[in-house]
Order: sequence, then structure tokens, then C-alpha cells
Amino acid sequence: MSQYRRNPPTGINVLIVGAGFAGLTAAIECHRKGHDVLVLESFPQLKILGDIISFGPNSGRIFQKWEGVEEQLDPLCHNTDRINFVTWDGDYLIAQHWDAEESYGKKFNGHRGEIHEIVFKHALARGIDIRLGQKVIDYFEDENEAGVLARNVATGVEERFTADVVFPADGVRSEGRKIVLGYEDKPISSGYAIYRSWFDSTNLKSPLTDHLWKNGDTHWGWIGPDVHFLAASLKNGKDFSWVCTHKDDTDIEESWSAPGKIEDCLKVVEGWDPVVQEIIKATPTDYLVDWKLIYRDPLPTWISPKRRIALIGDAAHPFLPTSIQGASQSMEDGATLAVCLEKCGGPANVREALRAYERIRYDRVLKAQKTGETTRDKWHKADMEYVKRNPAVVKLQRESWLLNFDSEKHAYEVYDDVATKLRQEDSKTGEGLGARL
Ligand SMILES: Cc1cc2nc3c(=O)[nH]c(=O)nc-3n(C[C@H](O)[C@H](O)[C@H](O)COP(=O)(O)OP(=O)(O)OC[C@H]3O[C@@H](n4cnc5c(N)ncnc54)[C@H](O)[C@@H]3O)c2cc1C
Repeated sequence: MSQYRRNPPTGINVLIVGAGFAGLTAAIECHRKGHDVLVLESFPQLKILGDIISFGPNSGRIFQKWEGVEEQLDPLCHNTDRINFVTWDGDYLIAQHWDAEESYGKKFNGHRGEIHEIVFKHALARGIDIRLGQKVIDYFEDENEAGVLARNVATGVEERFTADVVFPADGVRSEGRKIVLGYEDKPISSGYAIYRSWFDSTNLKSPLTDHLWKNGDTHWGWIGPDVHFLAASLKNGKDFSWVCTHKDDTDIEESWSAPGKIEDCLKVVEGWDPVVQEIIKATPTDYLVDWKLIYRDPLPTWISPKRRIALIGDAAHPFLPTSIQGASQSMEDGATLAVCLEKCGGPANVREALRAYERIRYDRVLKAQKTGETTRDKWHKADMEYVKRNPAVVKLQRESWLLNFDSEKHAYEVYDDVATKLRQEDSKTGEGLGARL
């Protein structure tokens, strides 16, 4: 018998485009519920990419449902009870302790590539069919099915794949948006960019930085005029990660591996706390990424005209990093969709499931996205004299509605009511399953 729990087969075929956290979570959750899953990913092989990423208690509890995953994540993840806030010029402000939110559940903050590898391997171990090197170049749907055209990135051979439903989980530059919106929408600059790095802590040679890593994990945040700088040590102080978010209106055509220049970054923090300057100077030159932070306006809908294609993750709703929720919300999407497909009653009703998914998730996601803007403005537009007198204002909002939340449980609780409401609305408008949000 398999070590992985799985419901009896539902006969529903799910095709997922993209094996990031949105795609993999949707795949694993759909597999758990008994749906058949195929994932197409354009990367030809798994690579350990990125640096620090955060999963709040709301997504931490999704990881915890996957047999063996929590045990693998624990030794890799950041382990502190607080973040210490400092002003840009080095005045200590306040510590924000996490104990108050521990009752919400467990969070996992660590290296994006390392966490991704664990989740990817878990999906493979469950027997999920993930095909790498398949770049999806077109989407289609009719009353009876949906599908994609994919090109093998090695051979150039094109192949059509069909399913009952398709979930584009293809990230912030999603191609899947076109069929959903009926037009091509362009990503926009958020007006900010982030220098980011992850390296071995032994590079930090100055005594000024010893306290950041030598006695185990720590977490620090410097707040300055339109710039903030966050630094964390992980794996009992062995690894070190920092991000510096600053104003930037240049070209947004970046990739995750766009190199950054140490001297440019030092200019952003000129005159700042010497500790910050030492961190940047200690950064190995090849380990600095200059990531232009792109954004998209909220979409009017996440599902296609025939209701067989549903956007998930960043493809549906990119988040500002200051929300600390982008990855978590992308995971909630998959957990919710899997339940909706289970509850809808079989392949004939999947279009109702996709509408219910959108209805259940939309307002919550919008509200969560807003928290990113609130925190960014709070940190970047702060009157520093006021902050020094009232240090508590820099604390992150860690609210129960957002973090103390189980998306799978919630979907089970509300699905029947949401589906009934959708049917009532349809009977009034006469639009049937075609009615939009
Ligand atoms: C390489 C990489 C590194 C990242 N590093 C960080 C980080 O360090 N910190 C952080 O906070 N966030 C990082 N992110 C973003 C973060 O993972 C997401 O914001 C969040 O997890 C939501 O995930 P997602 O699955 O919706 O999108 P993504 O993580 O962007 O995943 C989208 C996936 O879809 C695939 N894809 C795209 N187009 C196609 C196509 N046409 N056909 C097939 N597959 C396609 C991509 O290759 C990718 O694997 C990174 C994303 C990527 C892709």
C-alpha cells in the first residue's frame, strides 16, 4: 500500500501548466483528492533557484498535510522567535515577537530552491506525472474539454494535451491570462526593485556583523526613507540572506538571475548603519541579484469564458513581497481548487467547481494583496522622527483572518452554499455556467 493517502478516483482530469509552488500544490492536492493530474513545466530540469521565501501558518498547514514534508523542511528553515527593527542609521527600535501568532500554526521561511526541491520530489514520489522541458505556447477550450499546445524545448516537437480542466500556474508573466481575459495585459513596474542575496555566513568577516549569525539564527530589519533592508541567518547561523527594497523605475524585463552590482547597492544605502554596509560589502559578487519588482493590476476574473481554465498563483494575483503572502496564497489556490473539484460531483460539473473556486478565493486574495501595499507604505513613507518616538508602528500586521486559516477546511465548509448561490444567480440571469464573477 502507498504511504500517501489518496481518495478514490473521481475521474476528473486536471492539466497544470508550471511547477512552481502554485502548480505543485494544486497537483499534490488534486492527487490527494483522487483527480488525475498532469503537470507541464518549461524548465528542462529541476534547479535550486532563488533565495529567501516565506510561507505563513496558512500555507504551513498545507505542507504539514503532505507525508514527510515537514520533517524535511524543519532543518532548512529559519528559526527565531523575533525580528529586531532598527532605523536606517542604526538606532534600535523594537523587537516583534512571533509567540502571539504561534497559535495560528507553523511558518516555514527558507531558501526557495531548497523548499521547492522537497515539494517537487514529494510530488514525484506520489506518482504525479510532471513533464519537464514542455513550454506551453497556446491554450484552447470548448464546451467539453480544455487543453494546451506545448513545445518540447529540446526537440521543438509540438504536442496537444487535453483535460477536463486546465490551471495555468505559469507565474507573473503568465501566458494563460490571454484566454481568460480575452486580451494581453502587460506587467507593470511596481516602482521598486530588490537587491537580494544568499551566501555562506562565513563571508561575514567584520566583527560588526558577528551578532547576526555567530550564535544561531537571527532576523533584522532596517527601515529608512523609501528603502528597507531585511537580513536573516538560517540553519543555525550557517547561511545568510538579505534583501534591500528601494525605488527603481527602470526596465522591468528582468529574470531571477539578473546580476546586481555591489557598488550600485552601496549607493542605495549611503550613510546607513555600518552593519548594513558591511553585509553588502561581504556579499560575494556572483551572489547578488537585482530583481525589478513587477506587478499587475487585479484581474476582473481568473476563469476563462467556457469555465474550464482557471488561473492560479502569481498568474492570477502577483503579490508585493511586503505582504509576505505571495507563495502562501498560491498554495491556498491549489488546496481550494482540489476541494471544489471533489465537491462538484464529477467531470460533468467541473465548470461549477471553477466558478466556486473563484468566488471562494477572490475577496480574500484582494484583501491579502492590500496588506503588501500597507506595509510597504508604512515602512517606506514613514516619518522617521515619529517612528523613533513610536517604534511599534513598524511592526508587521500578523492578523488572524489571514494566517489562522485552513483553506482546505474552509472550502469544504462553504462549497455547498457557494454552489447553491451560483445556481440561484444563474436561474435569475438565465446565463447558466457562463455568468462571470
Ligand atoms: C526561478 C524562480 C525563483 C524565484 N525565487 C524567489 C525567491 O527567492 N523569493 C521569493 O519570494 N519568490 C521567488 N520566486 C517567486 C515565487 O516562487 C512566487 O511568487 C510564488 O511562489 C508563487 O508561485 P507560482 O507558482 O505562482 O509562480 P512561479 O514560482 O513563478 O512559478 C511559475 C512556473 O511556471 C513555469 N512556466 C512559466 N511559463 C510556462 C510555460 N509557458 N509553460 C510551462 N511552464 C511555464 C515557470 O518555469 C515556473 O516554474 C521565484 C520564482 C521563480 C520562477
